[in-house]
Amino acid sequence: AAKERGDGGYERYRAGMEARGAELNRRATALRTAILADQMVVYFQPVVTLPDGRITGAEALVRWQHPDEGLVGPGAFIETAERSGLIVTLGTWVLRAATREAATWPGELTVSVNVSARQLRDAGFPDVVAAALRDSGLPPHRLTVEITESVAVGGGATAENLQGLRDLGVRLSLDDFGTGASTLSLLATCPVHQIKLDRSFVPGSGGSDAIADAVAQMARAFAVQAVAEGIETAEQATRMAALGYDRAQGFHFARPMSGPDLSARLRSQVAVA
Ligand code: C2E
Ligand code: MG
Ligand code: MG
Ligand code: MG
Repeated sequence: AAKERGDGGYERYRAGMEARGAELNRRATALRTAILADQMVVYFQPVVTLPDGRITGAEALVRWQHPDEGLVGPGAFIETAERSGLIVTLGTWVLRAATREAATWPGELTVSVNVSARQLRDAGFPDVVAAALRDSGLPPHRLTVEITESVAVGGGATAENLQGLRDLGVRLSLDDFGTGASTLSLLATCPVHQIKLDRSFVPGSGGSDAIADAVAQMARAFAVQAVAEGIETAEQATRMAALGYDRAQGFHFARPMSGPDLSARLRSQVAVA
């Protein structure tokens, strides 16, 4: 309609679209170059037991070791990776790096890897996971694949792939639980081993416990493990333990750290045990 009015609105709209397209291309090219140049690194944030705080595993969180900007978090590039399709290459790289690192950890420690909807839509994703497990030597039950609601409603081969992962013996986790619109019905259609309450629902000092409490009860009803994310204080840890959360993650226990730093920490935990 703007075009017919001849007011230039359509041209401005088109120019805006093209500028955004060019910006996405520019960012995607930079990211692709960084992946090829080996500038991506995997950090690991410990997952601990409640209430005692013993490390039982870690979540793999990707970072970009940028030559000029230093260590850049995923908030700055995951969306570009998803919109450009590069997330498939990047996600496979993270999966392989994370399983290789976790295979060096002692005992039954587990690693959790975030997987995007785009990755899970592709038929053959379970084969990618199976290859990473085979090449790293990590037993399937020591890998947890973290998905969000957008994955579970993702279409393509998603449903078959989730079953394929279960068949491999890999564990599934519903991340950012509670932030989506249909998380409740999702639990019935997509059986998972674990749910991670989004950190926005962790009771602050004085805040309400209602949602954290309800989710803990639901986890018990579905017999899934409940993880509390974003625990920043001792009070929050105590509160979530009292509500029945089995596991926790957060700056109060440990920040995401490099693979070598985590290994050093694991050695000291084993040493005092
Ligand atoms: P997530 O999977 O929910 O990961 C938890 C995020 O919360 C991480 O941010 C972590 O550093 C942060 N966090 C942990 N404890 C605390 C705390 O006590 N307080 C606060 N304020 N934050 C805490 P990060 O590393 O920036 O990652 C952000 C998101 O990027 C992740 O959220 C995940 O959705 C995505 N992501 C990270 N790595 C990957 C990856 O390899 N593949 C995909 N597809 N997504 C990834
Ligand atoms: Mg996660
Ligand atoms: Mg989360
Ligand atoms: Mg998230």
